[in-house]
Amino acid sequence: MRVFSSGRAYDRAMTAVPTFTQVADGIWTATATIWTSLTTAVVAPHGACLLIDPGISLAELDARAHEAIRRGWRVTAGFATHPHWDHVLWHQAWCGAPRWATAEAVEAQRRTRDADLAAADAATPGHDPALFGRLTALPADATELPWDGPQAVIVRHRAHAPGHAALVLPHAATLLAGDMLSDLEIPLLDTDAADPLDDYRAALDTLERAAADHGVRTVIPGHGHVGDGAELARRLAADRRSLEALARGRTPDADRLRTPWLAEEHRKHVERLRH
Ligand SMILES: [Zn+2]
Repeated sequence: MRVFSSGRAYDRAMTAVPTFTQVADGIWTATATIWTSLTTAVVAPHGACLLIDPGISLAELDARAHEAIRRGWRVTAGFATHPHWDHVLWHQAWCGAPRWATAEAVEAQRRTRDADLAAADAATPGHDPALFGRLTALPADATELPWDGPQAVIVRHRAHAPGHAALVLPHAATLLAGDMLSDLEIPLLDTDAADPLDDYRAALDTLERAAADHGVRTVIPGHGHVGDGAELARRLAADRRSLEALARGRTPDADRLRTPWLAEEHRKHVERLRH
């Protein structure tokens, strides 16, 4: 997310922090007060809880920690879908729980830690640096998240950021897509990658295959809204159309480009693909 530090200037007004809503069997989401960021909690019947993207502001993290206690959830693991700063925040209440990420994501976060911490501080001050980005690398051959709850299948790809991975929760037919498959955001390329367009095309194929393999009926993006199976298909098609328009030098996706910071990201994509 560091690339968006000057851009994602949505409504920063602090309003009451929304609480969790159950969107599939044992899968709960809550929306942050900025950037339509979605927090996901995967909750086992015995109360163990896996947290993905726990929120952005300190007030949100506090609210999530209190709500988890109130609901009887024990946060025993976290998962960072990718190394951008808004996905590696954490709360002291959950110290001791490993925060899994792919080894590539851990390495990328280590490289950009100082800049990411500064970006986080500028957007939402007060996070404890000791908790920021303390990720644990998954074994390279891990196909499932090592945690004491429902099976969580790791779906690795190379789009948007180094070491990005989605999770599929087969028991709930749910795909946690990280910063992919958003209804609000255009496909955001990793402009530092050697071939960001091909990475993105391949990632959409990978996600589509994983969704088909597990009969996914619910998609949860990192930013945007929860969708059903039909919406997942619509987003895959919309993102592919965007990528092809970008590749052909056309302006894609008039709807999503109405958001100023996304128009700016699109401009950067065009610039990057010239070289
Ligand atoms: Zn991101």
